[in-house]
Amino acid sequence: MREELDKKLCEKYPLLYRDRNAPMTETCMCWGFCCGDGWYNIIDTLSALLCSKYNYAKENYESTKEYYENGGKWPWVDGKEIKPEDVEERRLKMVEAEESVPVVLQVKEKLGTLRFYINGGTEEHYNYIRFAELLSGRTCETCGAPGKVRGHGWYYTACDDHTEEGDLNDDTSE
Ligand SMILES: [Zn+2]
Repeated sequence: MREELDKKLCEKYPLLYRDRNAPMTETCMCWGFCCGDGWYNIIDTLSALLCSKYNYAKENYESTKEYYENGGKWPWVDGKEIKPEDVEERRLKMVEAEESVPVVLQVKEKLGTLRFYINGGTEEHYNYIRFAELLSGRTCETCGAPGKVRGHGWYYTACDDHTEEGDLNDDTSE
């Protein structure tokens, strides 16, 4: 994946890709995103899902803190007073959610589809990953257009435009 997109993912999801620049003795993530640009949207969406609980908790904490510091009331008509413990409760939830964000170990293409390895994931996280991996087998790795798995011996996922001429009549999709 080109550097600009790699950087964008790491900036958007720093918790998830916190090992992006760790040494290769510790993580395969040091090699970056080893797949084509066409899967950027799949990886971006998957990353958002893997962080969604944390992002929600963070926004909830930050907005409560802001209301507390600016008038101390919830922002609706006849809003109730916000107590310091309301802010603290949300801060603790954010910290808890932060600890539940898995770390990504490796992202690569193998046998034509995406492989996305994490550490510390829940069943929910693995379901999102399974979905993304299946979707990659229907998405051109080069350009992101609808495609299918092609090839003989070595496999790749491509739209018609990015398929080698000899593979155009293949149908390896189920
Ligand atoms: Zn394509």
